[in-house]
Amino acid sequence: MNQHTPPPPIPFIDLTAQRRRLGARIDAAIARVVDQCQFIMGPEVARLETELAQFCGARHALSCASGTDALFLVLLAKGIGPGDAVICPSFTFCATAEVVALVGATPVFADVEAVTFNLDPASMRKAVATAKQRGLKPKAIIPVDLFGLPADHDAIAAIARAEQLFVLDDACQAFGAAYKARRLGTLSDATAVSFFPAKPLGCYGDGGAIFTDNDELAEIIRSLRIHGQGSDKYDNVRIGITGRLDSVQAAVLLEKLTIFTDEIDARQEVARRYANGLADVATVPQVPDGYLSVWAQYTIRVAPDRRDALAKSLKESGIPTAIYYPIPLHRQVAYRHYPVVDGGLPVSDQLAAEVISLPMHPYLDAATQDRIIQAVRHALRG
Ligand SMILES: *Cc1c(COP(=O)(O)O)cnc(C)c1O
Repeated sequence: MNQHTPPPPIPFIDLTAQRRRLGARIDAAIARVVDQCQFIMGPEVARLETELAQFCGARHALSCASGTDALFLVLLAKGIGPGDAVICPSFTFCATAEVVALVGATPVFADVEAVTFNLDPASMRKAVATAKQRGLKPKAIIPVDLFGLPADHDAIAAIARAEQLFVLDDACQAFGAAYKARRLGTLSDATAVSFFPAKPLGCYGDGGAIFTDNDELAEIIRSLRIHGQGSDKYDNVRIGITGRLDSVQAAVLLEKLTIFTDEIDARQEVARRYANGLADVATVPQVPDGYLSVWAQYTIRVAPDRRDALAKSLKESGIPTAIYYPIPLHRQVAYRHYPVVDGGLPVSDQLAAEVISLPMHPYLDAATQDRIIQAVRHALRG
């Protein structure tokens, strides 16, 4: 008789571990907001913005309703619209290109580098030429700091300067990450982050923020996120949206921010253990010198014909995996009619066939992680 009971399933991201650590404090913070009844633009929102700006050294931090709204508000503020091209990667979450289409502009897809999963500066330069050949006016570039690793911001900024492009950093997966000793938030003209629960710094619902050092841009975004308000909300000076962050979410984030750097450190340790345990059986992610990743995902690459079997075998052992992203945007129904850089996107296509993400969060203990590592090794070698 088989007395063997399967080991307990492992969560992909364990949000309950963090709740156990912070629980009473967050509940108290939420209760304070509920008692005060200042649900919209309460004092927590201004306090959070001050702390977020300090955290990354940006002059302005503007909280908003989601990471998507953060990106959208910046494009609205810049007046980007029909006839304009915005260069972005195809190997990303759909919101990166969605906001470009929403303002009526044209996303032009560039390729990424296989090693970092991030925008290839040479492909970006070529995509600018592709946009011009199509009769579009290149106006902006949206690099993405995918899986928590910063893009090559110096190389991107240099091309953007030469082409007079606005740089909007999609740091929705990478708040807290650093590039050459600077935290994301000051490396581009504007930076968008998300506080979706599964992101490295997540709230208890949807939330986001925009960082910029530009006073004029900050002022316009402040207005746009509250229906284009002027001196007060019944003075409407432009067309805007309901784009605010709830006071309750700000209160949650203020508490989580107090342990965020500690969690970023813990993520480094988890990533290091994965790299040590898996580097000889799969392609493990590389962090270039001078970069700090916040490891929103731990994404390895395997041969395309081994990936399904790996996922199935891990699932049978109670280990969840995810494919970020199985179909690059230029092959999605909603986006496939938009231009791609001349020569196509071979690396994006290759990565979509090879990537698989493993459980990753700051509270992944060594014993549980060892179970994952052994299961991956067994599946790939057996
Ligand atoms: C999550 C994410 C977004 C959108 O953030 P939301 O808060 O979910 O709207 C945008 N871009 C990237 C790369 C993301 O991962």
